[in-house]
Amino acid sequence: MGKSTKSPFKIIVLLTLVTFSLIVAFVVFNQKDKEPSVTTFQKQPDITGQPTIGNSDAPISIVEFGDFKCPSCKAWGETIFPQLAKDYVTTGQAKITYINVLFHGEESKLGSLAAESVFKNSPDSYWEFHIGLFNEQPTENHDGLWITKEKILEVAKQVKGIDIEKLSTDIDAQSGLEELNKDTNLVKEYKVEMTPSIMVNGTMLEDPFDYEKIKSLIKKELEENK
Ligand code: CA
Repeated sequence: MGKSTKSPFKIIVLLTLVTFSLIVAFVVFNQKDKEPSVTTFQKQPDITGQPTIGNSDAPISIVEFGDFKCPSCKAWGETIFPQLAKDYVTTGQAKITYINVLFHGEESKLGSLAAESVFKNSPDSYWEFHIGLFNEQPTENHDGLWITKEKILEVAKQVKGIDIEKLSTDIDAQSGLEELNKDTNLVKEYKVEMTPSIMVNGTMLEDPFDYEKIKSLIKKELEENK
């Protein structure tokens, strides 16, 4: 007794220290694991026949995998997209392509079918329609039904150059299905699991809102393509 007995206080302190060290080690280990915040693919996505803004010869190809029903896509389109357009598209360094992702069921499909029809029949009206449809996404309760044929036609009527009758029959006939399948194949090929997913040339970003990372990737690509 006496000297050899460890005080419960010491044991508690020791256990606390051990637990704390384990937590620190775990956090550090996880951060290390996360360090490569990008995934690079051998081949860039094939953007033939996809809506693309910017100079077709631009050395930087930015691809957005998006969904009209997705709130983060709306946010990306309102914050990062205009920034990229201003900094790189207007300078001729980059082009931006939009690929449909159908993660939100029938409404995603309906919006995408409409967008494919607009792009096919009046490509010059595409981006205005695209932005117009995202503008209609409610800021609250975005899971509630809002992409309807009526809403689509209402948006389309406000955009110059869209043949409303053609759009309406295209939606009913699901004329854009083949194009949607092309998009879905790209979604699979590039292992897209969230929207928006953003690629810069062959590299997929982990955080689509990390503008500094996007800028550094573009800079690196521009230097390599000199
Ligand atoms: Ca497409």
